[in-house]
Amino acid sequence: MKVLIATEKPFAKVAVDGIRKEIEAAGYELVLLEKYTEKAQLLDAVKDVNAIIIRSDIVDKEVLDAAKELKIVVRAGAGYDNVDLAEATAHGVCVMNTPGQNSNAVAELAFGMMIMAVRNFYNGKAGTELMGKKLGIHAYGNVGRNVARIAKGIGMDIYAYDAFCPKEAIKADGVTPVDSADELYKNCDVVSLHIPATPETRKSINYDLVNLMPKNGLLVNTARKEVIDEEGLLKLMEERQDLKYVTDIMPEKNEEFAAKCAGRYFSTPKKMGAQTAEANINAGIAAAKQIVAYFKDGCEKFRVNKK
Ligand code: NAD
Repeated sequence: MKVLIATEKPFAKVAVDGIRKEIEAAGYELVLLEKYTEKAQLLDAVKDVNAIIIRSDIVDKEVLDAAKELKIVVRAGAGYDNVDLAEATAHGVCVMNTPGQNSNAVAELAFGMMIMAVRNFYNGKAGTELMGKKLGIHAYGNVGRNVARIAKGIGMDIYAYDAFCPKEAIKADGVTPVDSADELYKNCDVVSLHIPATPETRKSINYDLVNLMPKNGLLVNTARKEVIDEEGLLKLMEERQDLKYVTDIMPEKNEEFAAKCAGRYFSTPKKMGAQTAEANINAGIAAAKQIVAYFKDGCEKFRVNKK
């Protein structure tokens, strides 16, 4: 078996070493295409490989057409909208992601931004503490669960809304499940967003929903920019000078937010949630392990496309 790492933005060396160890221990060959600048390089590299590990790299019809021996593509990370799933299915290729490997990194960043916001962005003025405050976790998936774990240590009163996760699973973590997003926003001093971008969630974080938040509400977004109705949120934040918004996904209207909500708004310059040495290594090694398990045992646990 021949496994290709195709990364426009390479993994850290330690991650590549870890991947190599997994792949070679299985008796497979590892080949590397890093920092490629032309799509032609990718099309050439995929020609004879059976598996590909990617990060944000685009795997579309053209790549799948060129990869005649390909059986599996693993996106080292959570999001996989860079892979054409329908085309992969049509080509008989299994697509997987590596969920959960960067969840702690994202959750820690959410708290980094949360503390920065309640301490007034370190502007020298007295802020507030998180202990005893009500935290609303909007979607109780991999990241949401890590946020709950950290919030417990801080001493927050934790609520969660998830459209699909059973309430019993939320309760089992000592978190109070609520019945709707409305209820969550109405109740919580801080809401941390962890919903995926789907047709239902697109622009769902809007004027009316965020306006339910109590005075001095703080919205923390480490999820996706597509879920925010930027126009609505901007209008609300201009009307309600008490609200704060911090995000790891720079809005289209970043400059407007920065100008109109000065002192109450922050965006990372680029998405940084999963950008830790640990997450980088974990996701790469998980991808390698999933490829080995797929070929050796037919394990498709993390498959994201239809057969
Ligand atoms: P996950 O798939 O583990 O969890 C998502 C949760 O959302 C699931 O529990 C699901 O039931 C729930 N959900 C889906 N639709 C919903 C809806 N309409 N209302 C309420 N809940 C809904 O995903 P995750 O790994 O926890 O990632 C969460 C978010 O974080 C995603 O948007 C992902 O893209 C983003 N993310 C960001 C970074 C970053 O660098 N900032 C890194 C990784 C993931």
